[in-house]
Amino acid sequence: MSEQIEYIELRFSDILGRLKAMIIPCKGADTIEELRKDPALKKGTSLDGSSVTGLASVELSDLRLVPDPNFLFELPYAARRTAAVMCFLKRKGDDPDSGFKYQRDTRGILHTVCEEYLPGKMQLKVKIEPEFHFITSDRNVFDTAGYADTYPRNYGGDVLLEIASAVREIGMQPRVIHHEAGEAQQEIEIDYVDSIRMADFILTFKNLAQTLALSQEMDVTFMPKPFEGAAGNGLHCHLQLWDGNANLFGRNDGNRLSDIGRKFIAGLLKHAKAITAIANPSVNSYKRLVPHHEAPVYITWGFMNRTVLVRVPLFEKPEKAAVELRSPDSMANPYLLFAAIIAAGMDGIENDLSPPDPRSEDIFALSDEERMSLAIESLPANLGEALEELKKDEVIRKALGKEMVDTYVRIKRDEWREYTNSIVTLWEWKKYHSH
Ligand code: GLU
Ligand code: MG
Repeated sequence: MSEQIEYIELRFSDILGRLKAMIIPCKGADTIEELRKDPALKKGTSLDGSSVTGLASVELSDLRLVPDPNFLFELPYAARRTAAVMCFLKRKGDDPDSGFKYQRDTRGILHTVCEEYLPGKMQLKVKIEPEFHFITSDRNVFDTAGYADTYPRNYGGDVLLEIASAVREIGMQPRVIHHEAGEAQQEIEIDYVDSIRMADFILTFKNLAQTLALSQEMDVTFMPKPFEGAAGNGLHCHLQLWDGNANLFGRNDGNRLSDIGRKFIAGLLKHAKAITAIANPSVNSYKRLVPHHEAPVYITWGFMNRTVLVRVPLFEKPEKAAVELRSPDSMANPYLLFAAIIAAGMDGIENDLSPPDPRSEDIFALSDEERMSLAIESLPANLGEALEELKKDEVIRKALGKEMVDTYVRIKRDEWREYTNSIVTLWEWKKYHSH
């Protein structure tokens, strides 16, 4: 290990939420605090946006990475001491200090949505439950343990704790760490922080988990449904709306959800179909959103119930009140996801929307007729349907920006068409070859 921090990784997200970076050398600093004074950190660097998915066309490709020193930390795995910082994207020539954000910078979009939709000291805080599988190099499960199994059956336990320690070192607070229900499926719950920081954390978490696992010759997948017929990987998001020191989802008189909380839920349900295109953006995502593996399928809410889309977990103090959105998976771009959630929830609050009755029964046990008589609708069944919903939803479109939504839909529609029009699966072969 070199003695001083010699490099800074300038990190950013492509339109699909994948972490990208350019590395620049710096003067040499003993600590992160000392590095904060290095002019290299203020200057950033330039970038060919046309080579990154969704960022820019070739004619307008010159972009600038403008570091946001609010999230600056030292990488726990690089051979030379290297710091990492999340960046905003600007068009080259735009003033780096101006508030103007580039329309295809998803981090910038979340920043703008927070400023414009959350007045005064309001902020959306998010807690996440990322689920993932440890897999071998030949794509098999790394262990055959199940829910809450520990040593010796959970062979991945050491790597799991190594990931948990690495994320703690850079400021994330793991709450509960456990083996999930599926074979080799794991989860590290990360405690509440502001939505922008949490989106940064999600990109960082995935990168750390994959890098540390690879160093132990295993792989990590966040794929929503890596194995047929087994539990999928969700990224449940617990949401709280704060105004200064008050959690607006709680009520002073005890442990009930506030009216603001109910309106926020009504907004989430109203825009649930469009949000799905962002929260579940892969072909594979829709193989997770099926009955009986605790992933949501129907646009419903309820208290404690794990079969609904929006769950209100039991809480004892008003400041703990939260709303859990259970649909997202880790293929989502979290900046766009939180921007869409804020726009939807605030639409519910500003327009005094009321949610339908909460459901307490197992929704999957209802017949189609029962669901119809209760006016319970389904989430989009596939990526193609979800993209159509996103195109139609004016509230979400306005929040994310027309240019962003059009670009996103174009990229994702191509992905959907590639799958539906050209891929021949083993299932089709077995089903039809001798029809
Ligand atoms: N694995 C489930 C999902 O895909 C969630 C299980 C749980 O409740 O943690 O959402
Ligand atoms: Mg879980």
